[in-house]
Amino acid sequence: MSKEGSIDAPIRHPINFEHPDFLDPKKLDDEMRRAFDICHGCRRCFNLCDSFPKLFDMIDESENEDVESLKSEQFEPVVDACTLCDMCFMTKCPYVPPHDFDLDFPHLMLRYRTAQKKLNKLPAVPAQLAQIDRNGKIGVMLSSLVNWASNIKNIFFRKILELVSGIDMRVKLPTYNSETFTNYFKKNNIPNIDLTIHKVEGALAWTDYEGEGKFFIEIEESLNHKKFIITMCHEFIHVRQFLSGVEVSELSAYHYEEKIAEQFYNEELRRNGSLLNLNED
Ligand code: SF4
Ligand code: SF4
Repeated sequence: MSKEGSIDAPIRHPINFEHPDFLDPKKLDDEMRRAFDICHGCRRCFNLCDSFPKLFDMIDESENEDVESLKSEQFEPVVDACTLCDMCFMTKCPYVPPHDFDLDFPHLMLRYRTAQKKLNKLPAVPAQLAQIDRNGKIGVMLSSLVNWASNIKNIFFRKILELVSGIDMRVKLPTYNSETFTNYFKKNNIPNIDLTIHKVEGALAWTDYEGEGKFFIEIEESLNHKKFIITMCHEFIHVRQFLSGVEVSELSAYHYEEKIAEQFYNEELRRNGSLLNLNED
């Protein structure tokens, strides 16, 4: 008997990019039609995004009002409208695994886009926007200019951007930083920490300095939440001591560990609006 995924958490299978059928045009076309047919019968996602209304209208207006009446070229607007937000999979769909229908709509959209890219069929603008590494380098180099031009208040440039790229001028776009993480880490001497959580013999944790800013930290796996954070902070004090070239002192680590753990929790509160429970066991 099939089991619907709306009661239990959906099971997400990894995308099998290596499977010989993954980019097979006929198999992909068949799978698109199978999924679209199920969705057309269900329609629960009609108000989640633009993909589903486009799909339902297209099928309703087709010759026989069914998926078989669609031409494969008609799939593209449905895929283009998907922002991969994952809402249909995570919140709505009763046919996600473990249901026999094994429906994962967002993954199917990704599969289609992968096929488009491999066959050089990605539309020009998305193909350029997808050049994340190149765009990122330009964005960081010209961050002030790019952020000014893409600001939602810059009506003139946002209108041009909308005409060229199709990105709605009302959408708030992310801004670029003037410095990459890699440069920031280099400049600020941030340590490179290899953290392992497992059974530790004879202590709650150990820190080994391996030279050139590299540390190996082991933490006992059985610690509760609160003790884990405090122990982590304790080990970070040792990291700081190593980096500053001062004598590694257990006494000062014990003295400061709770204060640093408290700062950590306050930062959590500032960023997330809720506090992890310090007294949790
Ligand atoms: S993942 Fe795509 S199809 Fe699903 S709700 Fe989000 S935008 Fe729509
Ligand atoms: S994704 Fe699932 S819930 Fe949404 S319309 Fe398709 S079958 Fe229905």
